[in-house]
Amino acid sequence: MYSSVFSASILGMEIRGVQVEADVSNGLPSFVMVGYASTQVKEAQDRVKTALKNVGISLPPKRMIVNLAPADLRKEGAGFDLPVAIAILAAMGIVPEEALKGLIVVGEVGLDGTINPVSGVLPVAIYGQEQGFTRCMVPWENIREGGMLTGIQMVGVRNLTDVLHYFQDTEKYLAELPKKEADAKETSEEWEYPLDFSEIHGQPGAKRAAEIAVSGFHNLLLVGPPGAGKSMTAKRIPTILPPLTEEEKLEVTKIYSIAGLLSGRRPVMGRRPYRAPHHTVSPQALAGGGKNPKPGEITLAHRGVLFLDEMPEFSRKSLEILRQPLEDKEIILARVNGTYTFPANVLLVAAMNPCPCGYFPDRTRCACQMREVNRYMGKISRPLLDRIDLCVEVSEVSYRELSAGEPEESSAQIRARVLQVHRRQQERFAGSSLRFNGDMQPSDIEKYCQVTREGKELLERMYAAMHLSARAYHRILKVSRTIADMAGEEQVNGSHIREALGYRLTEG
Ligand SMILES: [Zn+2]
Repeated sequence: MYSSVFSASILGMEIRGVQVEADVSNGLPSFVMVGYASTQVKEAQDRVKTALKNVGISLPPKRMIVNLAPADLRKEGAGFDLPVAIAILAAMGIVPEEALKGLIVVGEVGLDGTINPVSGVLPVAIYGQEQGFTRCMVPWENIREGGMLTGIQMVGVRNLTDVLHYFQDTEKYLAELPKKEADAKETSEEWEYPLDFSEIHGQPGAKRAAEIAVSGFHNLLLVGPPGAGKSMTAKRIPTILPPLTEEEKLEVTKIYSIAGLLSGRRPVMGRRPYRAPHHTVSPQALAGGGKNPKPGEITLAHRGVLFLDEMPEFSRKSLEILRQPLEDKEIILARVNGTYTFPANVLLVAAMNPCPCGYFPDRTRCACQMREVNRYMGKISRPLLDRIDLCVEVSEVSYRELSAGEPEESSAQIRARVLQVHRRQQERFAGSSLRFNGDMQPSDIEKYCQVTREGKELLERMYAAMHLSARAYHRILKVSRTIADMAGEEQVNGSHIREALGYRLTEG
């Protein structure tokens, strides 16, 4: 008897449908698995056979063939165990064929029949919904990942016994499912974060730059001596980020689902991600790695912040990897079996000391030679620095500032302003794929950045005087647009541009 169960394979961020077919016929007892499967997928036959036996179903001494189609698509991961098990059960006549209609299945089967969680459930469910499937059978732990979807019913199973119950009486099984969907919707915007901007005394320049960066999604570099408050500022940036839109939540959750970083307790990414990889991070971990690549740090930071503390300490190779995604907002990984594209629209926040000892240009403490200072700064390549929109010096806080005891602005106060600017951008970019001023391409800049005559003249003068590249010129305009938005002004004027220019790293 022949049967077929629908499942899916994950290739990078892409989902491809896979048909798991089983055929049980008379002949020499055997179990064969075909269809371009990786070793891990092939092991499904052993896991499934043992698991079935442990729930009391022994396979008949017959010839069994399991085929995974299409044959030219490589299948990875343990997520095919469950569809293989169900296909066999259907081929044996235990599961009725018509119950498989409209059903898409993923899940790993343990030897005792437990269904273990797998990565990538959300994108599979989205794929199923798009393809017109009505139900998605997944491991119990993964059920809440699909909570945001309304067009497909998630069916959670804990073990093979659950699977059998589902097929014996589907309606009863569904009626008894706890209402998981409802609570998955409460993707808490409310959260406890132990840090607040009010704890930073002084540093008006750094705070202003951080607010501009967050408001328009512009890259930020903080330069200053150790202990001046660079990381303190960077670590408080999550407290002023605007919320994710529903669409962005789905986008970010999809990435975390594929990376296997969701859990029953956190089934949905409700906030913008904040990733702070250590400087020893490998280029692969930053960009995404593996034969069937998984998202790297830059993709995990998509729609959120990627913080690189002590930027010059990162390997040259790691830093250079950032160049292309910082420009294109996505990262392309070439592998022998194909090219993979991962989203990578991040707000880069970087921090660095101005020299090896950290105290340049304070000559009372810094004895570094100019050559050393230049070499230290030179660890970050010109093209990478070109992609930094805002560079700000964070100097040590004076005793007077520290002891003045003046109340500092809280994160909530700053965030209220950020939200206002966020709304302005949402209105401006309604109907386009742009979300922040930082997303604008040169053609968009022409459309959305109306500059006053005075502003144009200033730009023209500075373009020559500062030897700006075309890229730098566009980035200055984007930052100016955000500064104008923060001031509530429609046109970009000279003062907005002057401030933006002040954050630009000068040549040399
Ligand atoms: Zn020094």
